[in-house]
Amino acid sequence: MERHPVTLEHEQLLVRRGPRSGMYCAVAVHSTVRGPSLGGCRMWRYDDSASGVADALRLARAMTYKAACAGLPLGGGKGVIMLRDGAPRGSARRDVLLDFGETVDALRGAYITAEDVGTSSRDMTVIAEATEHVSGLAQARGGSGDPSPYTALGVQAAVLASCERAFGSTSLEGRSVAVVGLGSVGLRLARLLAKKGAALVVADIDERKRADADKLGARWLAPDRALAAEVDVLAPCALGGVLNEDTVPRIQAPVIAGAANNQLADESVADLLARRDILWAPDFVANAGGIINISVELERGGYDPRRARSRVHGIGDTLRAIYDAAAGGMTPLTAAMELARRRLAEPRA
Ligand code: NAD
Repeated sequence: MERHPVTLEHEQLLVRRGPRSGMYCAVAVHSTVRGPSLGGCRMWRYDDSASGVADALRLARAMTYKAACAGLPLGGGKGVIMLRDGAPRGSARRDVLLDFGETVDALRGAYITAEDVGTSSRDMTVIAEATEHVSGLAQARGGSGDPSPYTALGVQAAVLASCERAFGSTSLEGRSVAVVGLGSVGLRLARLLAKKGAALVVADIDERKRADADKLGARWLAPDRALAAEVDVLAPCALGGVLNEDTVPRIQAPVIAGAANNQLADESVADLLARRDILWAPDFVANAGGIINISVELERGGYDPRRARSRVHGIGDTLRAIYDAAAGGMTPLTAAMELARRRLAEPRA
């Protein structure tokens, strides 16, 4: 995982060695100002324990901004399970998940966990044996299930709002979009955009995804070429750091809106994009569909997919407000951070 300095501005940090598994579990609670902190549980192999803790701290902070921009009554937190070797299976997996669940429980509701890289909704069911502070359970168990369809729906709303800003219309007829990364979110997004009439260029490092591209009637390109394709919209849906000093000068799309987390190699890239007149939808706003979906699971009355869909569509309006604020000369990144800070300063209902 990336190694950036992390400012210590968090409310809590709990690191425990699991009594069953012997593995370190860390939970960082960045903010509960707007509500309990929510963030996924990442199961990952780190070079050392300090890197695992730094990852939890950094990701927890990002979750605070994501939830605040989405207007959710939630704060930011993140959990990390530090693997020693490969991902555990069977009873070893159960042991570490129960250890993690007890770590979550020790925070008495200040942190609610969910799935993330390396964990699944099935894992959440095991964690739920150790704590009630868990979300993202399977729909069959009353949970909100796989977040990817909702993340894709939210990115679609971001693409439409960004096209409206850049081209004066939300119509995708006659528009072209490059989707880079055809995974759980990217493939779903590509399908949604194709239905709206967009011509698609798609890319993935996994050649097996070519079959999906064919089914969509999309043009397949190598990822590096897709990034620089002459299209109206670029939708980064793979890994972070994809927008940097090397790639930005080559990008031809006037709009960038995608699902990938941490798209900017660093914050100065937002200025670089603005100087090139490229409209960038801040990733933590565009990809909030998953967390918005989970937040519906936590509401009184329980999960309702229709309510979730309507809330996720709201990402379009959030972005419009951010673009309006940015029209005065700010980058959309600065405008989004200001929106989050304003919401964090609001008194709680
Ligand atoms: P995924 O693992 O299902 O898909 C990622 C895809 O990207 C894979 O098909 C992989 O082969 C491909 N890929 C990897 N490196 C690539 C590269 N250099 N160029 C092109 N393709 C590459 O992941 P996902 O769940 O679809 O998530 C995609 C991104 O969206 C991630 O950054 C994730 O953090 C972010 N995100 C996902 C969700 C969600 O609900 N799943 C929510 C918020 C943010």
